Parts: sequence; C-alpha cells; structure tokens
Amino acid sequence: MKILLKNVLMISAYNAEPVKGNVIVESGKIAGINTCDCMEEDQFDEIEDLSGLLVIPGAMNTHTHVAMTLFRGFYDGLEMKRWLDGILRAETRLYDEAVYYASLVGTAEMVRHGCTAFVDMYFFEDAVARAVRDIGIRAYLTRGIVDVDGGLDKRIRENMDIFEQWHGYDGRIWVGFGPHAPYTCSMKCLEKVARIREELDTFVTIHLYETADERCKYRMEDLEKTGIFENAILVHCVHPPEDFTEVVGKHRILVSLNPASNMKLGNGIPPFMEYLEKGIPLSVGTDGAASNNSLNVWKELYLCALIAGDRVNLSELFAMLWEMPGKFFGKLGRLQEGYEADLVVINPEVPECVPLGSLRNNLVYSGIPGEVVYVMVKGEWIYREGHFTKVDMKEVLKEFEKHVERLRMH
Ligand SMILES: [Zn+2]
Repeated sequence: MKILLKNVLMISAYNAEPVKGNVIVESGKIAGINTCDCMEEDQFDEIEDLSGLLVIPGAMNTHTHVAMTLFRGFYDGLEMKRWLDGILRAETRLYDEAVYYASLVGTAEMVRHGCTAFVDMYFFEDAVARAVRDIGIRAYLTRGIVDVDGGLDKRIRENMDIFEQWHGYDGRIWVGFGPHAPYTCSMKCLEKVARIREELDTFVTIHLYETADERCKYRMEDLEKTGIFENAILVHCVHPPEDFTEVVGKHRILVSLNPASNMKLGNGIPPFMEYLEKGIPLSVGTDGAASNNSLNVWKELYLCALIAGDRVNLSELFAMLWEMPGKFFGKLGRLQEGYEADLVVINPEVPECVPLGSLRNNLVYSGIPGEVVYVMVKGEWIYREGHFTKVDMKEVLKEFEKHVERLRMH
C-alpha cells in the first residue's frame, strides 16, 4: 500500500519549520517527504489532496492509566493521600469489560488531540491491549506491580502473560513492566523485575519522587543497585534528591513529566529547567483521567512552557512530544524516510492557531494542536473527520456509561 499525501504544509521534526510539500507512506512507514510540485501519481494506491492542512508527527503520551477515564471527576479537589484512598477503594471494584470500554474512551480522547502512542500502567492490562488493538493506536503497556500483600509473584506472572500474548502485536503493541513505585515495591521486587526486563529485552516504567516525603523513603544509590534504571521511563520526578540527575544520566532512561497531575494533587511543580539544563531526556505524560483530568498531552507541553517561561525554546518543547520519546521507543516522532508512519493531519486555520506565520508557537502555547482532522498510525487511517474508522464511538460511549454506573452503585 503506497499513499501520497500531497500539497500539505508539514512540520517534519521537533526542530523543523513548516514547509509545503508531499509525504509518501509505504508499508506502514514514511517512505519519503519532498517539496516537488509534480509527482507521478499512478504509482500510488491512494492519493489524498490535503491542501491547506498541516501534517505533523503524532504526539506521544508517556504516562497514563488510560482506563481511569472511569473515575474522571470522582475525587476532584482532594489532596494526594485522600485522593489515593478514594481511588484505591474504587479500583477494588474494577473488572475486565469496564477497563476495555474505558480504554477505548481514553485512547479515543488521545487520538482526537493528535496523540498516536502512549505508555500505560494499570490492571486488567489485557483489556487495555484489546482496546488498543481495536481502535488502532500504538501502545506500550505494563501491568502495575505492587509488593504489599504477598501477591507479588501473581502480579509479575500476569505481566509476563500479557508480554507473551501481546508483545509485538501488529508492530503496534509492546509490553514492558510496571513496578508502581519504590514505596509500594521492595528493593528485592525491583531487582526481580529488573532481571526479568533484561531477559525479555523490554522496558520498565515506575513512579518516582512524586511527593516530597518520598525523598526520605528511598535512595537513588539503592535503586540503582537493583538495575531498575535500565531502559526505564521515570514518571513525575517532582522532588528529586541531589544525586538524581547524576545517577539517571548514566542509564538509558526517559523522564515523563506530568505537571497537571502534580499540581492538581498538590504535589508541586517538577524541576523542568534543571532537567533540561542537565540534558536529561524528557517527555510529557498526562497521568490518569482521575488526576488531571484531561488526556490531551499538548496541555502538559503548554504547562512545561509556562514553567520554563523565557528559558526554553520551541524545539526543546516539541522534542518532548516527538523526538525524545520517539528515540526511546525506536524510529518514531519524525516525518522522515524509514520512520513509522504515525502522523496527524490538522486544520491549522482555527482561531487558536492563527496567525499562521507563528504556527509553531501557536500549537504549543494554545495547548491544543489545532483541529485534528485525520490520524494515521503505522500507515493506517484510524480517525477521519470526526469518526474513528475501526470502532463505533457512539456505541462505545453508551457501553462506557453503563459500566461507570455499575461502578458507582457498588
Ligand atoms: Zn501515574
């Protein structure tokens, strides 16, 4: 399947200015971009004339618990401890089908805001994987692992089962391991997970230093010894100890900043500039819909821009959405030959994005990526002009509400 997207305006990478041209997609990958006026059109199976529209790489949301759309608005206005108590109680009532529909809702929300890939940590992750399969987005999934009630081996086993069943599915679904945090996982548990991760050659993701009191609960040198920092997405990192950047700088990591969730739960503001200055690979995540409550990752980028004020440039910000997570996971985040064809087509001629002369600024500082018209993942259109091509969203929303009601009643 060879597709030509012609007459587009495109921003091909984090540091590129908008240019007019064509994008060629073949076998799920970007086969090339050019600025020619005359393309030989008979060599293509599909030609889309996208005059007036902007094509950009798909954004990546590097931390969420996507099925928490079920609990959106349940415990708003509570500080972290009381919020968590409420959520943990609600989560004991979860079941597979509710997670499936909630994941369809959450992934749909991300797609509608120009996001083509996300990293997840939750339970019933098999149901999340089925939703990802059905809607067509790209995902990096983990089973949340805690080591608090003797159920550690069972949870690790479940994570491994999901790995065996889904890792590599359609070249879109990848499975890693999700130890929740060092205050819910012992060092022994982290060591075990790190060992399995290495054997299976995949990634881990873990919440780290989300709250100020975590500084007294565990130390970087102990964490480092467990091996958990290899191929790891470190989430939050709002209150890092002094040796944090030095230690993580020695490993293959990606930090996921979630400023909206941190501020909403009263945990503070991540030291974004310190990380940027030290060259730490950065990305943004929304966290779950119970603590944000939006899954639009562009809003997180907007907040990072505000935190940094005049000390950051647009390329550094776009890199957090495209380049850094793209590099961490492979060849993603650019419209460039050989990269995955995960892209978003936007109508930039909406009030939030004009004047077009400052389009890059407007995309970041409006907190929305214009009006998303089409979304492609791995060379396949999954969203076209307000409709999902693979799922009936009206039906999904109806089912979703039924499950929310059932969870509220118990
Ligand atoms: Zn989280």
